[in-house]
Amino acid sequence: MSGLPEPLLRVSKLRRHFGGGRSFFRSQRTIRAVEDVSLTLRVGETLGLVGESGCGKSTTGRMIVGLERPSGGEIVFKGRDLTGLSPGDWQRQRRDIQMIFQNPQSALDPRLSIGRQIREPLDLHEIGDRAGRDAEVARLMQAVALPPEAAGHFPHQISGGQAQRVVIARALAMKPSLIVCDEPVSALDVSVQSKVTELLQDLQERLDIAYLFISHDLRVVKKLSHRIAVMYLGQIVEEGPTDPVYRQPLHPYTMALLAAIPDLSAPRPARSARLAGDPPSPAKPPPGCHFHTRCPYARPRCSAEMPVLREVEGGRSVRCHFAEELRAAS
Ligand code: SF4
Repeated sequence: MSGLPEPLLRVSKLRRHFGGGRSFFRSQRTIRAVEDVSLTLRVGETLGLVGESGCGKSTTGRMIVGLERPSGGEIVFKGRDLTGLSPGDWQRQRRDIQMIFQNPQSALDPRLSIGRQIREPLDLHEIGDRAGRDAEVARLMQAVALPPEAAGHFPHQISGGQAQRVVIARALAMKPSLIVCDEPVSALDVSVQSKVTELLQDLQERLDIAYLFISHDLRVVKKLSHRIAVMYLGQIVEEGPTDPVYRQPLHPYTMALLAAIPDLSAPRPARSARLAGDPPSPAKPPPGCHFHTRCPYARPRCSAEMPVLREVEGGRSVRCHFAEELRAAS
């Protein structure tokens, strides 16, 4: 992994709120889908973004690739602030930041052959001449281990794993520095999952691509990520290098997520930290620490005062009033 003085991507205090207007009869609640999210990503690095469904991780990814407008905050990519870009500027910027979605089949056009779909972004951006584009399609297919004859096949004739390889090849056509991967292997069989994750790792080593890897599956994230950020109800509650976070999680929510994985060799928390119930609605988050309604360690201060995300040691940050005390007790 190479380094840069300035990170490839720096996201600061990013917010995405929905609703909050007034209808004829009553005012609507503001849904705080993403609240004050800050993260960084270096060249060739993978940051795993994890949390339960609806915690705001996909919305964060969609804002970074320009598919949703932030309500506030800053997204700086290669030193350039992306938050105020016009649609035309975003179109150009998108070449360098690609996104891969959960369901590869729905990302493909059923009427176009695989070769045409991989070629499409090259045609759209008029990259190279006709012969050069043909050669590039062949090279991209080889890079993602698709057989040459697959170029003439249509999406319904290929497997889910092959479809995800097509989507990855199409993203690579633009030679991106960053790919936002939103649950890219969740829809695939376990055996295919490991082949696609190995492919992503291999491409990263060869091309120095950075990944923001969004997933609810902590096993997959552990395998791929250099660092991990855990989200709960729109906020990052813990962030740090993957191994220390998995070995000794500091936030009770991270403890609970890891405790839910039976064969992960992480130490069990002293008190049962199994998650009970569903997360509260982001339209009505609990006061103070948003996790206090499910936290087995909650005390009166937790419902009165929201903890800040603070650095505790060696590049690790946590949003809990009592993180040090809980660590000492574990
Ligand atoms: Fe639990 Fe309190 Fe820490 Fe929130 S601040 S995670 S409720 S102990």
